[in-house]
Parts: sequence; structure tokens; C-alpha cells
Amino acid sequence: RARKRFGQNFLHDAGVIHRILRAIHPREGEHLVEIGPGQGALTEGLLDSGAQLDVVELDLDLIPILQSKFADRDNFALHQGDALKFDFARLGGEPGSLRIVGNLPYNISTPLIFHLLEHAHLIRDMHFMLQKEVVERLAAQPGGGDWGRLSLMVQYHCRVEHLFNVGPGAFNPAPKVDSAIVRLVPHETLPHPARDPRQLERVVREAFNQRRKTLRNTLKGLLDADAIEAAGVDGSLRPEQLDLAAFVRLADQLSHA
Ligand code: SAM
Repeated sequence: RARKRFGQNFLHDAGVIHRILRAIHPREGEHLVEIGPGQGALTEGLLDSGAQLDVVELDLDLIPILQSKFADRDNFALHQGDALKFDFARLGGEPGSLRIVGNLPYNISTPLIFHLLEHAHLIRDMHFMLQKEVVERLAAQPGGGDWGRLSLMVQYHCRVEHLFNVGPGAFNPAPKVDSAIVRLVPHETLPHPARDPRQLERVVREAFNQRRKTLRNTLKGLLDADAIEAAGVDGSLRPEQLDLAAFVRLADQLSHA
């Protein structure tokens, strides 16, 4: 009964479920939020920890199933709606206290991570099941083909750990791709703060629009050769050769102008 339009692939492998719960390691007194609980494969173990758990599920058909399984738990709160529009601030709590988890629908994983990063100050950590290829991009280092906008914008805010891979057989129905569990931990203090993060977004987007070209060429519309040099960046390099600190210096040149 899984529905393709909601990106539904339900976990059924008890070993994998156990391994994910162990990686999250929820405890009493904590506040967790599960995105897309589905039929509750992870929900049950999260609730058993005694932690407060808010779940956000879009599919109306799953709401009565979740209610009947978990409504009697006093640490459970169910929100029907779209996680992309959910206002995580309304859950309250101390800054840096929310723990976000989810076996995400793969079609919304990137916009959802960007949405959550807007609330990064509220979040202690995030554990997600994602397409393996997306986890490789999140955890990438400069110099390779995986290094790009997603790696940079997520690593600006978070430390990224690729925890382990999960094959298609752990799900019902089996997805066509490999999956992986990633941990994202928002930095308490940004290691490379930009004067204006919107300019970082702009320069990264522009640079990776044409990743085969030199920075001098791709950034022509934003920064001239002098500004690139003032940032201490060699304009003959390609964008994938630059680290986060160098992109922040380029963004700061834009904020000057
Ligand atoms: N956590 C369950 C499991 O592991 O078996 C289900 C995972 S399934 C990959 C993704 C879940 O996210 C589905 O239950 C789906 O209905 C839900 N979902 C899809 N889009 C959503 C959205 N925009 N907001 C909240 N939940 C969503």
C-alpha cells in the first residue's frame, strides 16, 4: 500500500532499524522530531526511549494508523502536514535542543535539509536516511566531483558524518537506489562565518552553474579579477578545487561592493 507520490519506502529490516536507533541513541529528557514516520518503523523505538517525540506526516491515510499505534503514549505528538512548510520553531525548547530524524522521502530531501538549516540554531543534530549519492555529496571534500553547492551550504552550518549504507532490500517496496544514514551536527560557532550568508549562496550557485569552467569565467558577472585576487583565490582554478573558507572570502568581497 506504499504510495509512490509520497516517496514511500517502508523499512522492514529489524537489524537496520536497530542500527539506526543505536546511532541516534535517544534518551529520556530529549526532544526528537521524526519527519515522515510512515507506519512507525522507527517511531516505536524512538518512543520506547522515553524521549518526547513529535512526528510530522503528510499522508492522511497514515494518520489513523499512527494514532491507533501510538496515541496512548504520553510522549507522542502527531502533526499532519508538509514537513517542508512545518515551523519547527513552534515546538519551542532551548536553542540547540531539537533532534531531527527521518527516513526521508528522497524527492524532498534536499529542500527539506535547506528548510531545516534555517532553524539550525534550534537543532542539536539530525539523522537521516537518504539516497547514498546525496550522502556522498553532503560529506564530500574539495577536489572531487561530489563537492558542490549541497556540500558547501550544508558544511557551512554543520559537521557531516556518513554513518553507514543500507541496501534496497531493507525497504518495502525496494527503492532503485542505495541508501545511507547521515548525521548532521550544526556547529555551535560557525568555523567560517560569512559577512552575509546570502552572498555565499549567490557565489556558490554562480560558480557551480558551470563547474567545468574557471572561476574567473563563471564569476565574471559577480566579481572582477581584482576582487577574486583580493579574496586570495586563484581565478584559473575550477570551483570544485576551492574549499569553504575560500568561498566565504569570495562572498565577503561581494558584501564589500
Ligand atoms: N519512516 C517510515 C519508515 O522508515 O518505514 C517511512 C519512510 S518513507 C521513505 C517516507 C515517509 O514520509 C512516508 O510516510 C511519506 O508519507 C512521508 N512524507 C512524504 N512527503 C512528506 C512531507 N512533505 N512531509 C512529511 N512527510 C512526508
